[in-house]
Amino acid sequence: MTAMVKAEGVHKSFGPVEVLKGIDLEVKSGEVFCLIGPSGSGKSTFLRCINHLEKINAGRLYVDGDLVGYRQKGDKLYELKDSEVAVKRRDIGMVFQRFNLFPHMTSVENVMEAPVQVKGVSRGKARERALELLDRVGLADKAGSYPSQLSGGQQQRVAIARALAMDPKLMLFDEPTSALDPELVGDVLDVMRDLAESGMTMIVVTHEMGFAREVGDSLVFMDGGVVVESGHPREVLTNPQHERTKSFLSKVL
Ligand code: ADP
Ligand code: MG
Repeated sequence: MTAMVKAEGVHKSFGPVEVLKGIDLEVKSGEVFCLIGPSGSGKSTFLRCINHLEKINAGRLYVDGDLVGYRQKGDKLYELKDSEVAVKRRDIGMVFQRFNLFPHMTSVENVMEAPVQVKGVSRGKARERALELLDRVGLADKAGSYPSQLSGGQQQRVAIARALAMDPKLMLFDEPTSALDPELVGDVLDVMRDLAESGMTMIVVTHEMGFAREVGDSLVFMDGGVVVESGHPREVLTNPQHERTKSFLSKVL
């Protein structure tokens, strides 16, 4: 199995505050990799580093074998230009806690937007594909609806379809169900489960331990900017080895 994401001693600071203190992990191609940990432990920052939204300060971070944010020549690193970063970011889909759909666009327009604007796909082709993707997330009948006419769960499923429209090789989910009313969480998790079954490589930051247990291939518990414990989700969730993991799980399970 090849690594889709590889982190070696990844450090990230904001000014004097060190948020990631040496993250080592590997996400294999095709796996569902769940990331859990208390608020403030650096989960979102780590996803943002993978997605080129933050630059790491030390260590190495690779996506699909490519160094993130830098080019290596000999033993020297050169920062990538913004235009080069933009091209690499196309391959990574990200879904946030807040759906951030364009409010003045319908569902289908939201899903078409990036392929048309960024990839230069024709509007006709992009619309056709967008309708397929909306169907895939169970929203074929909401193609013409505006975000304000949709529930939070439906908006989040449009956001997932929008990310998929760019044909990403990696999908990042940052607490995708945390802002939803409880009764809307299941539909979003079902879409993510389908996506996992289709073979998509996914990194999922979540407090949904049921999802992690049933769908996850690997699970990492992060605290204070380090990986405290990792393993198969069932193993870590039922038999945590570290006090910090036990204490966290006792609060969320
Ligand atoms: P998590 O997602 O696990 O809750 P975050 O990665 O959001 O954690 O945040 C980790 C820490 O980094 C927090 O203390 C947060 O305040 C800090 N942090 C995150 N982004 C920034 C930023 N842009 N500037 C300064 N501090 C930040
Ligand atoms: Mg976060």
